[in-house]
Amino acid sequence: SGRLAGKIALISGGAGGCGLAASELFAQEGAKVGIVDLPSSRGEEVAAGIRAAGGEAIFAPADVSVSRDVTAAVKAVEAAFGAITVLFNHAGILAVGPFLETEEDEWDRLMAVNVRSMFLMTKAVLPGMIVAGGGSIVSTSSISAVAATPMEVLYDTTKGACHMFARAIAVEFRDRNIRSNAVCPGFIATDHGKRELVGLAKYGIDVSDAAIAAQQGRLCEPIEVARAALFLASDEASFINGTHLFVDNGFTAV
Ligand code: NAD
Repeated sequence: SGRLAGKIALISGGAGGCGLAASELFAQEGAKVGIVDLPSSRGEEVAAGIRAAGGEAIFAPADVSVSRDVTAAVKAVEAAFGAITVLFNHAGILAVGPFLETEEDEWDRLMAVNVRSMFLMTKAVLPGMIVAGGGSIVSTSSISAVAATPMEVLYDTTKGACHMFARAIAVEFRDRNIRSNAVCPGFIATDHGKRELVGLAKYGIDVSDAAIAAQQGRLCEPIEVARAALFLASDEASFINGTHLFVDNGFTAV
């Protein structure tokens, strides 16, 4: 039973931050969960924790920017559970700094981890999803896709790409019963979120509690992003396709 009963879910970045919250929540809601994260992550421990709680999960280590890693991880999840019917493209990293000091290798790395990963992962998952009769893809965008944050030209650019990726996949695959949507969080209380605030403060940008309060009330909790992703992943969102669900307490409404 549960809102994802019978689903096979793959969650990239599923061992940390909102991805971890989603791995646990999706499993509680009845999905069999493939956690894809870096070999150095807590993936094995997270999967074991889910199994200990009565859920089904495996850890498939991968750097999501590397094609052979992604192929192997998708194969491992399919071998364990069957065709993937829910894909949560969540893994992503941050860069904060002046545009004119951004080096080419940093540009390429962020584009690879945040954007190429979605291409590789979605391309590897879709054939099985199509044969299975359809599914739901949720990709993590950000408020940064529509509201530029100071000192984040590179990061904002990657998230703009994730934003359109979600929509474009929806248009190409809706005739195969595949939905593709994005979640767009505001500042979240995760490692990524904390690093961002520290990074911005270094450049004199006001990220005090009062400044965050003025923009979005408080920091977003990882579970709040996971719940939005759960809704889009589930059949409750059956006619929702190509859209962007902001989880930002009105940050972008102003
Ligand atoms: P987090 O840093 O707490 O967790 C990210 C997870 O992704 C970690 O477990 C990490 O090991 C994994 N990961 C990183 N690089 C990877 C790679 N190359 N291959 C496989 N796994 C990798 O972060 P979080 O706050 O959950 O954020 C992650 C996503 O949320 C990103 O897509 C980010 O752009 C987006 N986001 C975050 C915020 C925020 O404030 N934290 C806001 C909006 C959007």
